[in-house]
Amino acid sequence: MDQLIVSVSVVRGTVGTSLTSRVACDFGCAFGTMLGAGKTVTIARDTRPSGPMVRSAISAGLLSCGVNVIDLGVVTTPGAALMTAKLGADGGVIVTASHNPQPYNGIKFLQPSGTALTATDAIRLKQIYEKGEFALVDGSSLGVASENKKTHSHHIEAICGIVDVIGIASKRFKVVLDSINGAGCVVTPELLGMLGCEVAHINAEATGVFAHQPEPIEQNLTQLCETVRKHKAAIGFAQDPDADRLVLVDENGRFIGEEYTLALATAFVLSRRKGKVATNLVTSRMIDDIAAEAGCEVVRAPTGEANVAQAMVENGCILGGEGNGGVIEPRVVAVRNSLVGMAYILQYMAETGKSLSELVAEIPSYAMIKTKFPCPAGVAEEVCSRTKQAFADRPGVKFNDADGLRIDLDDAWACVRASNTEPIMRIAAEAPDEQTANALVAEVRKIADAVIAQIK
Ligand code: MG
Repeated sequence: MDQLIVSVSVVRGTVGTSLTSRVACDFGCAFGTMLGAGKTVTIARDTRPSGPMVRSAISAGLLSCGVNVIDLGVVTTPGAALMTAKLGADGGVIVTASHNPQPYNGIKFLQPSGTALTATDAIRLKQIYEKGEFALVDGSSLGVASENKKTHSHHIEAICGIVDVIGIASKRFKVVLDSINGAGCVVTPELLGMLGCEVAHINAEATGVFAHQPEPIEQNLTQLCETVRKHKAAIGFAQDPDADRLVLVDENGRFIGEEYTLALATAFVLSRRKGKVATNLVTSRMIDDIAAEAGCEVVRAPTGEANVAQAMVENGCILGGEGNGGVIEPRVVAVRNSLVGMAYILQYMAETGKSLSELVAEIPSYAMIKTKFPCPAGVAEEVCSRTKQAFADRPGVKFNDADGLRIDLDDAWACVRASNTEPIMRIAAEAPDEQTANALVAEVRKIADAVIAQIK
């Protein structure tokens, strides 16, 4: 991936080749041009060593267009989003490549609410960047640069305001936290300390030198699982480098799967308050079972965090998120938030008196299979249409074509969609057992292969 990726939600590239200081400065100018002189933008970064360079270049671009820049320093993505809204800024910028390895960095642009830009604004920004005609101002009208170091305290305050701090603290939970030397390193142990936890913190230096591959998936979390066992901890938490995603390890040191973070948070929230929840089309149907039991509705939005956030606003949802470990609590800020996830899971354990493995066992489990494969541009539509035909006569079948195609059957689903950022196609399926899920994936894959073969 040595090509600069400019998708709806983010600009991402390899530092020094596709993502240079010039590219970053031009994106700063483009965002400044789009907003206009006199506006104010927050800027934040994760711990990557390339962060100061990219941050400085974007800031220079913004300032040169007369836009004021408030530097939040190294903070989490949800923290930066929260401050953008709290400070009444006209937009925000986060320098992060999220779960991608260290050679990468990225730029995420935020609306005043803290949520990622809408698709319309993202396209507009890209057009301004590509055209390269920027509204530069003269030396007397440049933007003003300032700093604000209060993100962590405001973030902790917002979370403690919606959970039972005393109830959680009374349990004195022993937890292991893996912050992958990322943006969660400082604020997360502070929050867990407020919640009365005894914290064993691994990969706790905010160096951006990742101790393992940064995506919080099973094969990258062996150290966390071992440390939970060693300390006989109640739970293990893994964050990604910008601390928006959270993955859990149970008290036996068992990785329980990223889909469970949102499922458990939903079970907790709906046990206390009733309301709609939103998620994307490829999140586990565990959330449907949990919501149905609580008498609540699930809204399914197209893939992409901003789409889920938008669906939450449109439907007045009380919780939302993604199956990749992203819990969105709109009362804190409408972006995925690993810290909210931790506080909710701890309170769920505290209130029920149950261990994490016991809470997991209460949720009906499914087997989910995901696959991706190279696919030439422009075939997705044909694949979706043929898949729809092939499944049309299945009993109880329902289709959702908001993003690719999702096929819902009585006790299983499959989804096929083209990636927004890479020339690949993804198929996911979930069923009560692995064999059925695999068979569903194979069936859709066969259709996709046939379409691709015809084109070649
Ligand atoms: Mg992330």
